[in-house]
Amino acid sequence: MGESIPYATTPACNYIPALLEIHTEPDGEYLHLGQKLPWQGFERSLPFIRHLRQHISDHLDAPTHLLWSVRVDPQIAQTYGRAEWALEYYNEQLSDLRQVGDEIGLHVHPYRWEASQGLWLEDYANSDWVDECIQVAVAAYQQGYGCLPKTISVGRNWISQSTVNLVESLGLEFDLSVIPGRPSVRFYQSEKNITGIGPDYTDFPCVPYRPQVDNFRSADPDRQQGLWIIPLSSGLRFQAQGVLPRLYQYLRGTQRTRNYQRISKLYLADRPDIFRQLVQILLEEKSLSYLTMIMRSHQFLNNKAQQNILANVKYLLNYEPMYARHQNFIFSTPSELVTLLGYT
Ligand SMILES: [Zn+2]
Repeated sequence: MGESIPYATTPACNYIPALLEIHTEPDGEYLHLGQKLPWQGFERSLPFIRHLRQHISDHLDAPTHLLWSVRVDPQIAQTYGRAEWALEYYNEQLSDLRQVGDEIGLHVHPYRWEASQGLWLEDYANSDWVDECIQVAVAAYQQGYGCLPKTISVGRNWISQSTVNLVESLGLEFDLSVIPGRPSVRFYQSEKNITGIGPDYTDFPCVPYRPQVDNFRSADPDRQQGLWIIPLSSGLRFQAQGVLPRLYQYLRGTQRTRNYQRISKLYLADRPDIFRQLVQILLEEKSLSYLTMIMRSHQFLNNKAQQNILANVKYLLNYEPMYARHQNFIFSTPSELVTLLGYT
């Protein structure tokens, strides 16, 4: 993986771009039709991020820009009355964020209300429906802001050729869905209200690329325009297993370890030891020159998560690379990230 990628992995400047994407969503897992609950996690994030931004800027002598990917899709439309509800309800707060250089992107989950069963179905198996949700989202964003969004991320790290073609034809510039190295996952397991199979990302590039036309799995280094796919920072994460899976493995005689590994994104609110290990793998073993970090707005309601964020940011601010070239992080939007890496 990676050898055939013509894009450079070293940045053109003396910084390591760090993209923090905050999925800006309702707090609960389940939305009740017509119940317009405010997004408390987002509200709580604002003073926290204001302090964090100041703290980072004091250390780095560079502006700190974040990406807020806001849920604007049919589920929000049906629950809150309009898909662009959050853009309007939080207009003042989002304007303040844009004012300091943050980007407001799109976040889309393809939930559909199944009236006969009285439940939401997150329907990835129906690509027409996924595409319709994206079209609704882009139109609602334009309605709210009078311009196109630049960046999109779809729930569950979903992407397909038809999604890529659609997003490109609509004029968006950046996609944040690919988790390089992650094998295909069946969505329908313990959760019943979801369909589809997560894409197999095992052979995907792990640096930003413009995909070949009709083959989003591979880079086309000659393309001068079109969508950038920014692969998310990801690596093996150790995870403690529950008692039942361990017992099952023991009875089958297959147990070797109390932990197992899975490919995970880099979560800023993750346990500091896990966060550090993954950062080291990415920057030192894989020699990658940028980081993407993910958060969800409801995590700001959790004190432990807030502590982890502070510890993890402190780690980044004091990061000492194993190798000679010393670089500072710079918290960047997607367009700043590809520019800093020397791609544009
Ligand atoms: Zn989401």
